Amino acid sequence: MELSKLAKELKPSATLAITAKAKEMKSQGIDVIGFGAGEPDFDTPDNIKEFAKRSIDNGFTKYTAASGIDELKNAIISRIKEDYSVEYDKKEIFVGSGAKHVLYNLFQVLLDADDEVIIPAPYWVSYPEQVRIAGGKPIILSTEQSKGFKVTPSEIQSVITDKTKILVLNYPSNPTGVTFTKEELIEIANIAEKNNLIIISDEIYDKTLYSETNHTSFVQINNSIKERTILVNGVSKTYSMTGWRIGYAAGNKNVLAAMNNLSGQSTSNPTSIAQKASVEAFSGPQDKVGEMVIEFKKRRDFICEELNNIEGISCLIPDGAFYVFPDISYYFGKSYKDGKIENSVDFADFLLNEAKVAVVPGVEFGSDKNIRISYATSMHDIKEGVKRIKEKLNEFFS
Ligand SMILES: *Cc1c(COP(=O)(O)O)cnc(C)c1O
Repeated sequence: MELSKLAKELKPSATLAITAKAKEMKSQGIDVIGFGAGEPDFDTPDNIKEFAKRSIDNGFTKYTAASGIDELKNAIISRIKEDYSVEYDKKEIFVGSGAKHVLYNLFQVLLDADDEVIIPAPYWVSYPEQVRIAGGKPIILSTEQSKGFKVTPSEIQSVITDKTKILVLNYPSNPTGVTFTKEELIEIANIAEKNNLIIISDEIYDKTLYSETNHTSFVQINNSIKERTILVNGVSKTYSMTGWRIGYAAGNKNVLAAMNNLSGQSTSNPTSIAQKASVEAFSGPQDKVGEMVIEFKKRRDFICEELNNIEGISCLIPDGAFYVFPDISYYFGKSYKDGKIENSVDFADFLLNEAKVAVVPGVEFGSDKNIRISYATSMHDIKEGVKRIKEKLNEFFS
């Protein structure tokens, strides 16, 4: 059967591919340490699970409004108000089947053919693909590790054309863990204002932050910036609920109404039970969130120190999220028994085959000098994985 042009050009998700390969090796009895995962290793908190069970028993198992139930929208509004002191109306909230689906719908309803979307790199893998699927043109803006992987206002200005419609921001960032200060955000906001850009602000790691200063949301800068921003967040990372598939957008009600229409013709509502569970996630006790962050911080400190002690590896200390994104380009040009390392894919293959450690090649995030290591795994595995990496790389010097 002949596939559409779109289908032929679609890229499979790289993170899912590496996880699949590591799983296959494990099933063959090979002891692989997995650093590929893009999800917390903690269980979903019990109070949230209880809420879901109760909603099944109460028969809350039917269609809901496509953009989510009012009870959940109200819980989201209260959470945003408590965290950021900004107010939204119910018409300004859209609930989708995960933040990924929310972003997908956003690009679908905002982009016409050849509209340009500025995406700073390293970026989350799905942004460029989702923009292309919607017919838009991703404009990738590379940033340097030596400059903290931070995009500057003048760099943004330099790629703006009369086709530029959207700027995508993601902070704390997947894959770099880098975040922005309030001052930096204000400067970026000024550029957006001056050039009439829509901001899609993916703040899904807003709670997974290790610095002393709180997260500043883009929508907190001022009211005019809030009005040109679509805030994206969800329950996946904060509450360890990746499988429940609940994400949301907050912003312009016309845009959200269009997303509602799109969902109405495609997915319909996100799972009713997961919506109820998410009400509890946003409005119930929040102490589990802090506990997870404390544990992640211990792991971050350990893994950064260990990696930076390995010859030729240079790793920024992330402010948030649960990934490190070290530069491994020092090893390009080196040969080993089965091959030669020339790029991040070769390096990831080398680690998987030789050290039995699964990582994601940086090229998938728009930076071929790096690899992404997720520390959303046990301290035991982190210690063992880092040890294996160190031993294998040391062989290049013996
Ligand atoms: C995990 C992730 C998402 C998607 O989260 P879901 O709500 O599970 O779909 C979106 N953006 C970034 C940066 C992520 O890391």
